[in-house]
Amino acid sequence: MASTTPDSEKFMSTSGATDPVWVHQQPFSSLPTFSPLTQDLSTDICVIGSGIAGIHVAYELVKRGHQVVLLEARDVISGESGRTSRHLTNDLDDGYVEIAKKHGLEGARVTAESHAWARERIGEVARELGIECEYRKLKAYDVSQYMVGSEGYKKEIGELREEAELQKRLGIETRFDVSCGSRGGDEGELLTMPGKPHCPGMDRQA
Ligand SMILES: Cc1cc2nc3c(=O)[nH]c(=O)nc-3n(C[C@H](O)[C@H](O)[C@H](O)COP(=O)(O)OP(=O)(O)OC[C@H]3O[C@@H](n4cnc5c(N)ncnc54)[C@H](O)[C@@H]3O)c2cc1C
Repeated sequence: MASTTPDSEKFMSTSGATDPVWVHQQPFSSLPTFSPLTQDLSTDICVIGSGIAGIHVAYELVKRGHQVVLLEARDVISGESGRTSRHLTNDLDDGYVEIAKKHGLEGARVTAESHAWARERIGEVARELGIECEYRKLKAYDVSQYMVGSEGYKKEIGELREEAELQKRLGIETRFDVSCGSRGGDEGELLTMPGKPHCPGMDRQA
């Protein structure tokens, strides 16, 4: 059972009060450990934080011939990266409509491209290093959580339609489809269920 008591020793392994679900199969103690830094070092580049961002940046720099030191205050992947749901996707939570409002169309395009690149690159790195991390490509679905016909549903579907249009303009392979759905609810209403394989909304490559 997951612990709910944060303590300083546990905080060295994970930033959350509870354990991530896979800790039972892959305990914190099975992760690689590194000695504390005991002396001054000179290096070309110092990367701080051994989450996915720091590890991947350090890896790419080393591959390009740079001398890199990666510093971590706690254990490796003890931050958010150790708790993530592991979806690598260019289907971003904020949505490209919002991103374009803040950063313009070009900013949204760069965002889409960089996330698509990173998604592929992590697969390449896993293959290069022989890491069996169940990397596989699946479709991503964006769905409405509201009952069909409700005001919330109409609003969300309108937003998804707008998002799908923009994604196409950004070169993302997206399909908007309200014709498929999953049955559910007390009175057999058509519900849109997050995570179901057939849902009204958009689907694309995750
Ligand atoms: C429950 C959950 C589900 C998620 N699901 C997804 C998902 O499906 N897809 C997705 O893309 N994102 C998801 N995220 C978000 C994703 O996990 C984070 O965006 C990502 O892991 C952040 O990586 P990071 O390397 O930037 O930070 P972290 O993984 O937090 O790494 C930062 C590291 O820096 C260290 N550090 C901090 N300060 C210092 C310092 N001063 N000196 C030395 N070290 C320091 C920390 O100890 C930590 O190890 C999820 C997050 C959570 C919590």
